[in-house]
Amino acid sequence: MSLWLNGIGVSRGIAIGRVQKLSGGDLEIPEYTIAEAEVEAEVARFADAQARAREQLEQVRAQVPVGLGGAQNEIAAFIDTHLLMMDDRSLTEAVVSSIRSSRINAESALKRQRDALVAVFEQMDDAYLRSRKDDVQHVSARILRTLLKQERSLPVGTTGAAAEPAPEPNVIVADDITPADIILLAQAGVAAFITEYGGPLSHTAILARSYSIPAIVGLHGARRLFKDGEAVIVDGDLGHALADPDEQALAFFRSKRAGQLARRASLSGLRDQPAISRDGVKIRLLANIELSEDATHAADLGAEGVGLYRTEFLYMNRKTLPTEDEQYEAYSRVVASVKGPITIRTLDLGADKQVDSGARSGPTPNNPALGLRAIRLCLKEPDLFRAQVRALLRASAHGDVHIMLPMISSVAEYRQAKNFIDATREQLSREGQPMAKHVPVGAMIEVPAAALAAPLLAKHADFFSIGTNDLIQYTLAIDRVDDEVNYLYDPLHPAVLRLIRMTIEAGDRGRIPVAMCGEMAGDPRYTRLLLGLGLTEFSMHPASVLEVKRIIIESDIHALRAHAMNLLETGDSQALEALMSD
Ligand code: PEP
Ligand code: MG
Repeated sequence: MSLWLNGIGVSRGIAIGRVQKLSGGDLEIPEYTIAEAEVEAEVARFADAQARAREQLEQVRAQVPVGLGGAQNEIAAFIDTHLLMMDDRSLTEAVVSSIRSSRINAESALKRQRDALVAVFEQMDDAYLRSRKDDVQHVSARILRTLLKQERSLPVGTTGAAAEPAPEPNVIVADDITPADIILLAQAGVAAFITEYGGPLSHTAILARSYSIPAIVGLHGARRLFKDGEAVIVDGDLGHALADPDEQALAFFRSKRAGQLARRASLSGLRDQPAISRDGVKIRLLANIELSEDATHAADLGAEGVGLYRTEFLYMNRKTLPTEDEQYEAYSRVVASVKGPITIRTLDLGADKQVDSGARSGPTPNNPALGLRAIRLCLKEPDLFRAQVRALLRASAHGDVHIMLPMISSVAEYRQAKNFIDATREQLSREGQPMAKHVPVGAMIEVPAAALAAPLLAKHADFFSIGTNDLIQYTLAIDRVDDEVNYLYDPLHPAVLRLIRMTIEAGDRGRIPVAMCGEMAGDPRYTRLLLGLGLTEFSMHPASVLEVKRIIIESDIHALRAHAMNLLETGDSQALEALMSD
């Protein structure tokens, strides 16, 4: 019997395939004793499995896809941690010694040691250290699968994304999937991913999008509800999966899929076409980037400049803070490689963006998302902020640099930061450092208070950029990284839409540009709605630029405005659906 199941669609597209369930930490582990004479052979079997698991992980490490921005660094660092742990004595020596002393098979020795280490990590007070138990489980599972000959290896002859899909490709159903396994499975040509956990910003989601493989996360109970080997349709746009579809559903989704593939193929022709609507409104399409290489990639995909350069990556995976000169070099390189304007965001650390480099000390706050993060942290730590502002102003000598302040919540906070930047500029002038004559300083609108106070802020800020990822989190009171409340994360909530409109209107009245750089700007499902709300600058993951451009070119913005304003008034959800799907 057919069964529709709902999760969160995080990577778009339709896939049709057969369910392949992946065992996670719940592998069936055989436990038995061995004879004295078999002990050394068992030790060798463990060492061999460990070496093979490491080799596989090293191969994957070399294949982390490029163009993922900061996520690329994070994923590589994640795999490095697993590589280090795989050789860690606390894991391996204990396994070997328990094979020898208790005369048990390698699998049960590894399981014992895994459980002992997990118990130790679970006792830790520090949340970060407690979470290392997941790494122990992932690494142990990888060696266990090798021992049990259940590896997720690349089938011979497949060569990444260009590989011909198997006649009946698999739809992977799992509790969660590590980045390393996503890379292996993506290259093996799987059709789609369905996981029980994770959200739109999880590694599974980011990687699936970069491989253009449809994915649904947060489909709780998926492993129980799907049967191994049964047919399944995955709709990554809507987050729906249909188990055991009938012929009619199969025919409908096959034709929908063919249409989507044809549309995708036709997009490349739009690269050099300007983003002008049918009724002649010019829209600016910019890219969100995190590494200097992303800038070139963005221009190749038709972006006119950079609307959000996240600078946190410079502070990640290191023990010391980057110096002013180091930052100046890094920013100058990116600025020089961008043809249009480049909006660089000052440090947005805290909450979902943690680093080791000592940018902040002290106890972990109870509510990090409401704590000393982003501009609050910078204003509290003037030395940290000064080094970055100096580097940014110096880099402005090489291009059209705009400085953007994250998490502004009041006029006073904006003015404090702006005065700091002005004073830093004066200091640099006295030193004779070259800088651009004017460097616009804008406020991110990602706290409801800022959206509500936008008419006042517009009197001071040079531009606004709406950060919907945080604006939605703070407006709807849902932690953006908490799986349990992901289902409430709703960009279409009337409160969110009203705050967006208020910000755009305040910008228009104050005659300052308003952009949007949250995920919503790059999701083609929302393009018409945002055009209707009056948005004229969109900044997004470079991979979405062409699809959003196609929608703009096909739209009549004046007609959309009338619809959008009407539905803001009435909150009519059917009108909203019509605006989105037409
Ligand atoms: C946002 O909050 O929408 C945003 C663009 O910033 P980040 O996702 O980096 O917090
Ligand atoms: Mg944000």
